[in-house]
Amino acid sequence: MKIGKYSLGIGDRFGHQGEAQLRAIVKAAVAGVDIVPVWNKSNREHSYIHSKPNDTRIEADAAVKALKFAGDYFVDADHINLSNVQGFITASDFFTLDVASKIGTASSDEQIAAFVSSCKKYSGILNVPGIVHPFEVSDQLLNTIVRKFLAAIAEAGKIYNFIKEQKGADHFITEVSMDEVETPQTPVEMFFILKMIAEQGIPVQTIAPKFTGRFNKGVDYVGDVAQFSREFEEDVLVIEYAIKEFGLPDNLKLSIHSGSDKFSIYPAIGRIIKKYDKGIHVKTAGTTWLEEVIGLALAGGEALELAKDIYKSALTRQDELCAPYADVIDIKQNELPSADEVDQWGSEKFANTLRHIPGHPDYNPNFRQLIHVGYKIAAESGVKYMGLLEKHHDLVGSCVEENLFDRHLKRLFKL
Ligand SMILES: [Zn+2]
Repeated sequence: MKIGKYSLGIGDRFGHQGEAQLRAIVKAAVAGVDIVPVWNKSNREHSYIHSKPNDTRIEADAAVKALKFAGDYFVDADHINLSNVQGFITASDFFTLDVASKIGTASSDEQIAAFVSSCKKYSGILNVPGIVHPFEVSDQLLNTIVRKFLAAIAEAGKIYNFIKEQKGADHFITEVSMDEVETPQTPVEMFFILKMIAEQGIPVQTIAPKFTGRFNKGVDYVGDVAQFSREFEEDVLVIEYAIKEFGLPDNLKLSIHSGSDKFSIYPAIGRIIKKYDKGIHVKTAGTTWLEEVIGLALAGGEALELAKDIYKSALTRQDELCAPYADVIDIKQNELPSADEVDQWGSEKFANTLRHIPGHPDYNPNFRQLIHVGYKIAAESGVKYMGLLEKHHDLVGSCVEENLFDRHLKRLFKL
């Protein structure tokens, strides 16, 4: 089982926007770019919303059936580990093995020595075809990398084997992720990580490193775009070399987590994958929930009131809502509108403040990030939220579709 060249992580907190998102993918196909949709949802999201992995499968299958979508599609068990993977085995055919928490865990001296000695060929000056400045791989650097990552990748091997025993090797796609950490992985680290992955026998098809810069939820990239571009390009070349050197799957590609809304780096990503004729996977699911709130705001009446209530409640529950996302949000307190202010707003003002149009005078990324982490409040309102989503199904769906196609796919793939 192989995933196509371009794939997009989609999905939504409440499982209502499968068709709207798939319509954006269909539009891209009509415009000439085939993209594989991958519905992803993490265990964390499921636990807040009280949904089950099979709900994602039902949503994906229903959307594909309704639109008579003929391409491949997958359901991603996002950020799973050994403690929670079991619940995803039946519903998923794409598994994101999250080993970030195992980075830095100790390995035995024998294991470290064995890996280091297997890297003789690459120590000293490491020339990766296409990369102008060769990497200098000192013994010390190699030792540091091995100590940092060997146990994490051994854990990925355990998770992979656990899934393989139940599903069979050719019945799922494997991603390895280590993006939810503070320190980015450098291209040279990625090279040796890929060697470890190959030695574990993991047929990895997508890999999600932590890239340089901030990938905050629902807002644009914050960081040095030139440095990001340089490292992204080196990562692409390292992967190409690693595929040949270590016998990894030839479609192995980068996966960008928290990939929605990173408009300032999309041109570089698009240019580099085109230059080397490489694939990409971009996870964007979180952005869809914000479009639901925008759609409800635009609907006016009680739907606008509910959108306002979600924000006002999030304002008073910031610590609780932000804690699980502390590494991936940056909210400036003094730029958050007060509850009284928001009470005065009409539909357009609320939607324009939340909608991600860079440079729009009303757009407020702080407001947007707070609502991003506030989906738990909508989940608590339960029937009311779902009822309004259904009542304003067409309007909300058109917001979801427009966001994914016009603001994301058009920019990424120059459509
Ligand atoms: Zn992630």
